[in-house]
Amino acid sequence: MQKIDMNSPEFLKEMEKTKKFTDKVNKQFGYVYNNNEDINEGVTMGLARHKILYAKRFCPCFMVEEVEDGTFKSVDDRVCPCPQAIEKEIPELGKCHCGIFCTPEYVANNDQ
Ligand code: SF4
Repeated sequence: MQKIDMNSPEFLKEMEKTKKFTDKVNKQFGYVYNNNEDINEGVTMGLARHKILYAKRFCPCFMVEEVEDGTFKSVDDRVCPCPQAIEKEIPELGKCHCGIFCTPEYVANNDQ
């Protein structure tokens, strides 16, 4: 697995962009962040890492595999924000599989 220096300017810049991206997703769909900050940070870091490695925000909670032509894909076909989360997980469970995007109701009921 390719290593990325989490303190490098490149990574920190991508983290900033990813945070803007997740802010935008929340705004667009009316979601809110999880009230567990560790989850939000871990998922943001994973998304930033995948963007640097693969030029796509593949879901950080699913494996990414190389396909025959040298390109990569998420094994569960999840590029953030994934349809699985928007259409099923968030409406039914209150949060996406990774847990960063939640309904306000889910967060209110999971006060930590
Ligand atoms: S489960 Fe879907 S919406 Fe949640 S972080 Fe992964 S790709 Fe994004």
